[in-house]
Amino acid sequence: MTDLEGTAGVTSFHDETYPEGRHHVLARQLAMAEVNAAVDGFLEAGCDDVLIIDGHGPGGLWFEHMHPEAKMLHGRPVAPRSVRDSVLKEYDATVIIGQHAMSGIATSNLNHTQSSRSIYSITLNDRPIGEIAQWALYHGAFGIPLIYLTGEEDACTEAEQLVHGIKTVAVKKGLSRESAISISKEKARELIREGARQAIEAHRTTPLPPLVWEGPFVLEKRFFHTHDADRYDTVAGTERIDGQTIRITGEDIRQVIYS
Ligand SMILES: [Zn+2]
Repeated sequence: MTDLEGTAGVTSFHDETYPEGRHHVLARQLAMAEVNAAVDGFLEAGCDDVLIIDGHGPGGLWFEHMHPEAKMLHGRPVAPRSVRDSVLKEYDATVIIGQHAMSGIATSNLNHTQSSRSIYSITLNDRPIGEIAQWALYHGAFGIPLIYLTGEEDACTEAEQLVHGIKTVAVKKGLSRESAISISKEKARELIREGARQAIEAHRTTPLPPLVWEGPFVLEKRFFHTHDADRYDTVAGTERIDGQTIRITGEDIRQVIYS
């Protein structure tokens, strides 16, 4: 799974990660090259099927430059979960390339959770979570472990706290929400490729378990503005906690985690 905000050289929502940004295409090309480097590492380690999932909201990759041996699952709106899940279940492990940390981490470049424009924060069973936990828990429910993550330094820390033993590679260090120190694109790709190979080799020797938390699940989602919470008024299993916050409860993590 790929995201755009944790790519080396990408620091700005308005100029790079939003589709109307003046350097958006360049950012997508940088992200695609990092993903291709990871594909190289996986193939070197003997993987026989690499599916790239473009996980950035409006799309964050550049298909023209995709690694010739990879495939891409892309397009918006995303396919229904019932359809996507049957594809995901065919794979042994998942990784995240180009990730940023959760909203509220002040030193994380481009920190946000799901939507930089509407979501203030998300907690699951009272624990603050970001996109890494969402992805790892969703796939954990299928028995698929998250074994590798690259991106911004605080995202690497967030992943290491969630999944003990995960391999991570930082390609930039955030200084504030829209400022970072990036390594060169060449160095980033070299580290990502090498890390990808090592992650697979380590997983073969000592497999990482899928991330599974104990249910039932209570997810609270706080928005910047009340109109975003208004949209949940008719959604079953949802309560309004206050003007900006909704609460969703359930037994199945897959029903709850992306609500
Ligand atoms: Zn993201």
